[in-house]
Amino acid sequence: MNSSTANTDKTRITIAYGDGIGPSIMQATLRVLEAAGARIEAEVIEIGEQVYLRGNPNGIANSAWDSLRSTRVFLKAPITTPQGSGYKSLNVSTRKALGLYANVRPCVAYAPFVPTRHPTMDVVIVRENEEDLYAGIEHRQTEEVYQCLKLITRPGCERIVRYAFEYARQQNRKRVTCFVKDNIMKMTDGLFHQVFNEIGAQYPDIARDSMIVDIGAARLADTPERFDVIVMPNLYGDILSDVAAQIAGSVGMAGSANIGDQCAMFEAIHGSAPDLAGQDIANPSGLLHGAIQMLLHIGQADVAVRIHNAWLRTLEEGLHTADIYREGLSFQKLGTQAFADAVIARLGKMPEILKPASYENSGPLTLPPVVRQKPKKKELVGVDVFLQWNGGLPEQLGQSLKPHAAAQLPLQLITNRGVKVWPQGFPETFCVDHWRCRFKTPAELVSFEDVLALQVRLHEAGFDVVKTENLYNFDGEPGFAAVHG
Ligand code: NAD
Repeated sequence: MNSSTANTDKTRITIAYGDGIGPSIMQATLRVLEAAGARIEAEVIEIGEQVYLRGNPNGIANSAWDSLRSTRVFLKAPITTPQGSGYKSLNVSTRKALGLYANVRPCVAYAPFVPTRHPTMDVVIVRENEEDLYAGIEHRQTEEVYQCLKLITRPGCERIVRYAFEYARQQNRKRVTCFVKDNIMKMTDGLFHQVFNEIGAQYPDIARDSMIVDIGAARLADTPERFDVIVMPNLYGDILSDVAAQIAGSVGMAGSANIGDQCAMFEAIHGSAPDLAGQDIANPSGLLHGAIQMLLHIGQADVAVRIHNAWLRTLEEGLHTADIYREGLSFQKLGTQAFADAVIARLGKMPEILKPASYENSGPLTLPPVVRQKPKKKELVGVDVFLQWNGGLPEQLGQSLKPHAAAQLPLQLITNRGVKVWPQGFPETFCVDHWRCRFKTPAELVSFEDVLALQVRLHEAGFDVVKTENLYNFDGEPGFAAVHG
């Protein structure tokens, strides 16, 4: 990956001051970067709350995209997304528009200088950044039911899992763990898990294991020192990286790198903390860590090491912002800018107790392109028709649907919120107004015309068809979840 350079030694980057505590922690971070001799030339763009409130639902002007696509390196302070359905999350759209598929979030304890119950914790969360429930495809389908589509793709899984193993190898880490919920989401999380096993097998030098995300999260919160690198789909990674940062010491300390093939964005993992805005008390360390990751990415490991070691030394001397300040442990409580001054004053010094920063192996990873799989034989074998129906008991729905089914598309079953209610459902099952009616035979293939004709018949009979999902086999394997019960 190349970032553009303005002259022989300065790398152009794009920066945004953000909202809430953003401007203050960005100012502190830039002062440290400048004092440490970072060879950067920053272009400022405006994003966030003011842009949204001027009527731009994306929170970013078109001219700002030009800067991002030209520099391809973005150091971003947190922004506030106004409440309300009209505003799109700028963070999500930036990650997706620029193809920043890997979100790397190191969460490290700095005991005994920063209080934590997990003094040896050193975990890196590699979060998939573009897919999952963050596709933003949501629909209200009936009076009572809303839906959010969870999209997991094979290329998406392959890219993030490969990134996690390549990162582990580059950083000399020993184990990659995968968190999924494939006991429930057998197809989507099941694919993530399967790809983890396939790609992990190509890295015999790195141990691997996987956990169901609920017990994985419990163990991460209880004994994070047992983990090394953890790779997860988007939502679990979003939640658990905040948990990991907080138990390491403070959510205000962890940085985040969002990496794509063409561009990269660096930020703190926390948000704009409006409760702390304008008071000069926020910890700038999260954004500073994002900036350190940026320096490594643009080939300035010398500056990154200098800043990191000065920062470690500042912590060791008990110079702490309010979020990590503890009476008796800390020496002095500092505001945001004073903390930056303390780091600047220690540039060139090394920590005496904490492990010094070492970035011998750093810089962008070069991943092989994803090889698309050979297409499988795809056959239409039925259809799930989703209805809004307020008519009464499942048995009545089953009986009134049956006459409209065709010989090659008989009504096989009906579920409500995924539970089979016909035939032979339980009277105890609570039902809403959203019914999934599966039309298929075990043996026959059907045509798309059969499916369309079925919908027309149902519509003409007065049924409210809210959506359909075609049922396909791929090389004879069902491409849809079985219904139990
Ligand atoms: P938040 O992360 O902004 O803050 C939660 C709490 O964590 C704060 O109240 C504060 O006590 C603490 N905290 C956070 N950063 C800190 C720091 N640097 N120093 C000390 N303490 C710190 O989460 P929130 O309050 O849920 O969200 C506020 C806004 O931030 C929302 O509008 C949200 O959409 C936005 N947000 C933005 C980003 C981003 O830009 N990347 C990420 C998350 C949330």
